[in-house]
Amino acid sequence: MKYLDEFSDPVLARRLFAEIQRITTQKWAVMEVCGGQTHAIIRNGIDQLLPNEVELIHGPGCPVCVTPLGMIDKALEIASQADVIFCSFGDMLRVPGSARDLFGVKSRGGDVRVVYSPLDAVALAEANPHKQVVFFAIGFETTAPANAMAVYLAKERGLKNFTVLVSHVLVPPAIEAIVRSPTSRVDGFLAAGHVCSVMGTWQYGPLVAKYRVPIVVTGFEPLDVLQGIRQVVIQLENGRAELENAYERVVSERGNQPAQAMVSKVFDVCDRQWRGIGEISGSGWCLSDDYREFDAEARFDVVHVDAPESDICRSGEVLQGLIKPNECAAFGQQCSPRTPLGATMVSSEGACAAYYQYRRLSGTPVGV
Ligand code: SF4
Repeated sequence: MKYLDEFSDPVLARRLFAEIQRITTQKWAVMEVCGGQTHAIIRNGIDQLLPNEVELIHGPGCPVCVTPLGMIDKALEIASQADVIFCSFGDMLRVPGSARDLFGVKSRGGDVRVVYSPLDAVALAEANPHKQVVFFAIGFETTAPANAMAVYLAKERGLKNFTVLVSHVLVPPAIEAIVRSPTSRVDGFLAAGHVCSVMGTWQYGPLVAKYRVPIVVTGFEPLDVLQGIRQVVIQLENGRAELENAYERVVSERGNQPAQAMVSKVFDVCDRQWRGIGEISGSGWCLSDDYREFDAEARFDVVHVDAPESDICRSGEVLQGLIKPNECAAFGQQCSPRTPLGATMVSSEGACAAYYQYRRLSGTPVGV
C-alpha cells in the first residue's frame, strides 16, 4: 500500500541499520518525542536492532498519557451532571480517574458520547438546545486547530450551551524542560512530524541554537524513524547541532498557517500541568479572553478539582530516560493497561503500555 509498504521496506531498513552501525562510535541517547513514534519503535523492534551504543528514550508525546489525573476527574464530574452531553474522542473513555472512568459514568446513565470531530459536538449543541454540550479538548498542537474551530463556530452561531474542557499541551516547552533538567541524558531529539505538519519547523530553531542539541523532525513509519535516528547520529558524531527535517513529504518550515491563525484567535499560551512531569511554564493553550465564556471548568465550577498521582508510579523517570518501563516494580504487577497507575501506561501510545503490549517484560537497565 502506497506510503505504508514503501516506508516499511525491509531491504532499505537493513541498509539504514547498517549505516547507523557503521557511523556510530560512542554512546548516544536519542529521545523520540511522540508516542506514535514510541509505538512504531517498539512494535518493529527498532530499539533492539540498533547498535548497543544508540539508546532510544521514550518521550512525553502521548496526549492521553500526559493529561493530568485531576483533569480526568474534572471530566468525570462534569459528565455525571444531569442535562449534560459529554463528548470526547474514544481514547479518553477508558482512562481512569481517581475512582472511575467515562465508561463508568456512561454505564450509570451519564450521557457520554464518542465523537470523531469537535464539530460533531457543535452540531449536538445546536440539535439539543436544552442540554449543555461539553467537548473534552485534549492533545498537542495537532488537535488544537479543529478544537479552536469548534469554539470559533460556537461563538459565531451564538451557542450558549456549548463549552470545552481544555487540556492542550505544546511540544517545544516540553523539549526545553527536558533539556534543562539536571538529570536529562538526552543527546538529540526526534521531533513529532504530525505536530510539525501544523506548526512547521520554525519553533525548533531557537531550541537548537540555545541548547546546542540536534533536533530532527521525524515521521512514524519504520523507515521514517530510522532516517530520523540516522540524521541525529550523524550530527552527534560530527559535533553538529542543527534542525533538520526528515519528514519533508508532510512538514514545511512554516506549517499550516490558517490552522495556526485559528489557534491564535481562540487560545492563549498558559502554564500547564503534565502528568508524570509536573507544571511546565508556557506549555499549554487555554481559551483567550474573547472565548472565555466557552470554558467548561468555569461553567461547571470544577476549577478546584484535583487529584494526587500514585506515589508508586515512576513515569516521570521513564519520560526522562532514567529507567525503562520494565524496571518499575509495578510494571505488569499492580500496573497494567487495565489498571494503569501512571501516565505512560494509560494510553497504548505510552511507553509502559507499549512495553506491556509487546511483551518487553524484562530488559537491560538504563546505562549498562
Ligand atoms: S509501569 Fe505503571 S507505575 Fe510503573 S512507571 Fe509505568 S505507568 Fe508508572
